[in-house]
Amino acid sequence: MRDDFYPPSHYDHEYAGKLFISAENALPNLALACGLPTLSCTQVPGTHGLASDECLILLPKRDIWDKTGISFEDLKRHEIAHCNGWRHGKIDTGPPPPPMEVRNPPMVKRPYIQQ
Ligand SMILES: [Zn+2]
Repeated sequence: MRDDFYPPSHYDHEYAGKLFISAENALPNLALACGLPTLSCTQVPGTHGLASDECLILLPKRDIWDKTGISFEDLKRHEIAHCNGWRHGKIDTGPPPPPMEVRNPPMVKRPYIQQ
């Protein structure tokens, strides 16, 4: 597990906007949607065709994640912190930074499970 898996407390809370979760993704699809090989990622508000109050987290097939030994709840917690503005490698300085630049084309909004 990377050292910064658990988010700083400032970002470690529920997302106040509309949270979408795309779960049960195969790894090749995650790599496409996330722009790099990864187990999960977040498309933050204002990117990928999302409105400024929408955030999408992309999660892998459950059995893939279960092999890592990290709970699915902790994985969601990590990604939701990204919805709240957390970025890796940045010191927690308080207010969230502006949204990241768009790196990938918008995803088709399906099949999301609204939380
Ligand atoms: Zn992360």
